[in-house]
Amino acid sequence: MTHRPYNFSAGPATLPEPVLREAAEEMLDWHGSGMGVMEMSHRGKEFISIYEDAEATLRSLLAVPSNFRILFMQGGGLGENAIVPMNLSQGGQVDVVVSGSWSQKSLKEAQRYADARAAASNEPDGRTDLPPPSSWALRGGVAYVHVCSNETIDGLEMHTLPDLAALGCDAPLVVDCSSHILSRTVDWRRVGLAFAGAQKNIGPAGVTLVFVRDDLLGRALPICPSAFDYSIVAANQSMYNTPPTYGIYIAGLVFQWVKAQGGVAEMDRRAAEKAALLYGYLDDCGGFYRNKVAKDARSRMNVPFFLADESLNDAFLAGAREAGLLQLKGHKSVGGMRASIYNAMPLAGVQALVGYMQDFARRHG
Ligand code: PMP
Repeated sequence: MTHRPYNFSAGPATLPEPVLREAAEEMLDWHGSGMGVMEMSHRGKEFISIYEDAEATLRSLLAVPSNFRILFMQGGGLGENAIVPMNLSQGGQVDVVVSGSWSQKSLKEAQRYADARAAASNEPDGRTDLPPPSSWALRGGVAYVHVCSNETIDGLEMHTLPDLAALGCDAPLVVDCSSHILSRTVDWRRVGLAFAGAQKNIGPAGVTLVFVRDDLLGRALPICPSAFDYSIVAANQSMYNTPPTYGIYIAGLVFQWVKAQGGVAEMDRRAAEKAALLYGYLDDCGGFYRNKVAKDARSRMNVPFFLADESLNDAFLAGAREAGLLQLKGHKSVGGMRASIYNAMPLAGVQALVGYMQDFARRHG
C-alpha cells in the first residue's frame, strides 16, 4: 500500500497527513527552541506565539466577528453540556431542540442546572429527519435555545442554522457544532455561543473550542468552577489554568492546513462532493445498503448505513479492514455501519469506500 489506510472513525478521527508529518518533525525541537511543544511552559513566548497564531487563523477561517471571544477549553462536548447552562442559564429556562443522541444528552445535563425542556424531538420518528423550526415550541423568556447542528450518531445535519428572531424568539442560540465545524461557514448573526470538541475536524481530543458573544459573559452561576467560567477563561486568554497545549498546537497546524487548501469554502465544496458520491451510491445500489435519513437532513460528515442482510456485517467490516478502510462500524446505539468523512478524508478515500461497497455487494448480492 502506498498510502495509509483510510480511517472513517467518527472521532477521534483521521488528521491531514501533512499535519502529522510536521508534528513528527517538530516533536523533539520546535523551531529551533530546543524543546518539544509538550515541554514548553504555556506562559513562554514560544507557546504564546503558537496559541496566538492558532486563534488568529481560526478567527479568519471562520470569519469570527470581533464581539465573539474564542476560548480553548477542556471537558469536551459533554463537558460543555454542563458548562453552558452553568454559564448562561442563570438557573432559568432553557429550550433544547432534540434532534438526536447528542442533543438528547445536552437536554438531560441542562436539567441539572436549569428548567430545561425539549422544544421539539424527533425521537418518536426514529430520528430519521430533523424537527422543522416551524414546529419548535419555544417558550418566551428562555435563557437560551440549544441545538446540535450535526448529530454525529444519527447522521443528521442542519444545513442552515435556525433564525430564532424569525421564530419570534430573542434568546441566544447555542450550537453544538462538534462534528462539522470548519466544513462550512457560520452565520454568526444567528449565534450566541457555539462549541465544538476538537477530535473530529480540528485535532486531538482534549481541546474544546468555545465561541461566545461578549454580552453573554459574566452570567455564571456561583457553583460554576472558575476554570469553566467563560468570563474568567476569556479574561485570561484561555490560560486561567494550563490549557491543552499540545492539542492547541496540532489544532493550529490543522487550521494552517485548511487555509492552505483554500479555506472553509474549499472544505465546504469537498464535503458536498464526497457526500454526493457516497449518498448517490447508497441511493442507487438497489437496496443492498440503505441510509434511512431524509434527504435534506443528511449529514455531509457522518453517513450511517445498513446492509439489508445484517448477517453480513462482520464480513463487510473484515473485508473493509483488509482493503485498508478502517473504523466503519456504526455506533453501538444504532448498529450497522457509519462512514465519517471529515475534512481530512480525501475524495480518494470515499472513492475507495464506494468501490469496496460495490465489490462486496457484487460478491454477496
Ligand atoms: N456533541 C457531538 C455532536 C458529538 O459528536 C460528541 C462526540 N462524538 C459530543 C458532543 C461529545 O463530545 P466529548 O466526547 O468530547 O465529550
